[in-house]
Amino acid sequence: MPIPEAQRAAATTPRSLSGLAPYLKPYRGRIALALAFLLLAALSTLLFPVALKLLIDQGLVAADPGQRVLALRDHFVALFGVGAALGVFSAARFYMVTWLGERITADLRNAVYAHVVRQSPEFFEATQTGEVLSRLTTDTTVVQTVVGSSLSMGLRNAVMGVGALIALIVTNPYVMAQVLAMLVLVVLPSLYFGQRVRKLSRASQDRVADSSAIAAEVLNAIPVVQGFVQERREAERFADSTERAFDTARKRTRVRSLLVAFIITATFGTLLWGLYQGTQAVLAGQITAGHLGQTVVFVIILVSSVAVLAEVYGDLLRAAGATERLMELLASRSPVAEPAAPRALPPAVPGRGASVSLAHVTFHYPSRPKQAALADFSLQVRPGETVALVGPSGAGKSTVFQLLMRFYDASHGRIEVDGVPVREASLGALRARIGLVPQDSTVFSTSALENIRYGRPDAGDDEVVAAAKAAFAHEFITALPEGYGTYLGERGVRLSGGQRQRIAIARAMLKNPPLLLLDEATSALDAESERMVQAALEAAMKDRTTLVIAHRLATVQRADRIVVLEAARIVDVGTHDELVARGGLYARLAAMQFDLEPAA
Ligand code: ADP
Repeated sequence: MPIPEAQRAAATTPRSLSGLAPYLKPYRGRIALALAFLLLAALSTLLFPVALKLLIDQGLVAADPGQRVLALRDHFVALFGVGAALGVFSAARFYMVTWLGERITADLRNAVYAHVVRQSPEFFEATQTGEVLSRLTTDTTVVQTVVGSSLSMGLRNAVMGVGALIALIVTNPYVMAQVLAMLVLVVLPSLYFGQRVRKLSRASQDRVADSSAIAAEVLNAIPVVQGFVQERREAERFADSTERAFDTARKRTRVRSLLVAFIITATFGTLLWGLYQGTQAVLAGQITAGHLGQTVVFVIILVSSVAVLAEVYGDLLRAAGATERLMELLASRSPVAEPAAPRALPPAVPGRGASVSLAHVTFHYPSRPKQAALADFSLQVRPGETVALVGPSGAGKSTVFQLLMRFYDASHGRIEVDGVPVREASLGALRARIGLVPQDSTVFSTSALENIRYGRPDAGDDEVVAAAKAAFAHEFITALPEGYGTYLGERGVRLSGGQRQRIAIARAMLKNPPLLLLDEATSALDAESERMVQAALEAAMKDRTTLVIAHRLATVQRADRIVVLEAARIVDVGTHDELVARGGLYARLAAMQFDLEPAA
């Protein structure tokens, strides 16, 4: 369920980042190593002012000029040593931390994707594809920025800041009292700005997801968009949406700029104040010049750490928002749940087909709870039988398939395949027993060979070709430019409706399921394709149980039984001749639809 915008934004705190903990856990060793390098690099930075003080006080201010030259050389060597250590440790830290960021983002992306593809259709009715894509890319990238850089930057600066603070307290308690007072003045307003940035960040991510959702929908419907000459309107709709995203981003950036301006100004003020105090102390002979130099560097480190930490805090909040959205997605549970202790289906008998039973099934789609898609629907199908479902559009024919595949759960009644209620079998086992040939079959952007192999990924090439032959697809595939290697779908050859359906039939035949669910294409095919598809259907129906949503006389005549549906209910059952003789809905449908179809 989507959470209202206001409520979500208010709930975002850096604590939401704890959702990432399970993804960090496998890499504890690496995290420890990264932390070690981070600590070493920070310590090297802190050693710098110490070496500087020694250089000034012992190298420059020593009494004897000869001694001075020697001491200077040693001090420069020591300074270089500090610099080299800083370089090596920083590089090691950078590598480790970036590695972690990339690794964890990749894991997170995979986890979200794997979770989303398992969701039942109900999830996709409520969530737009583009939104999911946006979360997979934009939100995970934000998380990556934080884990792979901001977090380490924050830690490094925290260590350095605390180190500088301790060093300053030890070396110069008096100046420290003042610097601390100044810091409070920097931190408090930053927290206030941070709050604003946080709210706007989440909103900004949401706006980006909105525009992705629009784009994904439109790009999938380009022929419709262009057919109705709506390119301009769609472009404008998208532009409006990106404009809203820009607007939110602009607001966020404005607040953040204010934050930056404030921090830099305050930093400079603090710095100059410290310097002024220091010069006064040197003039009064209270401290040495080296001491002053050291103090100045410590103050620079401290104040810049605080400034960086404020920036990092902003990033953390952004990532907290993103993490929250990802966790919401991961928390969504598919309403079609895998049974805790699945019941095994009886072993399939080759060539026999499955038995199917629907008893008093009533079902409402979740988005239309008032209207039953199936009402008190009962149908028994014997193994090997071919049953045709016929009825006006919207009668509930496809719904029968949806329930048998268990894409949805019926609210009442019992649905069994091979004597096992579908709710009690494992989803994998149930769906392995069923072959679905949808009306509008999907062709993936890969070769013809792989498209058919989708039905059974471990099938050999010769098995694929055999299935294609059985589905009367071999001939047209070999006539393609590169035969079975030809790319189909989005990036390759476009297929006609009849060809697509034969690919889908071949796919199902390769899977060789005991139960075949076939949704016949409604679109008119030319006579040749029609003959081919009919031959493919005939082959596919052999030796198994078939439920076919029929739109053609030739198909109906092949069925052992015809079930006539109207408004979610079965209104008649019989053979073609019986039903025509009865002169009911079927006779009317037959007169209207089958008239024009060429007989096989
Ligand atoms: P048929 O296959 O006979 O044309 P369907 O089984 O697809 O009919 O649809 C039966 C009823 O359920 C129709 O009123 C249809 O509008 C509705 N319906 C189908 N799919 C959905 C869905 N995903 N969400 C809500 N209602 C749906």
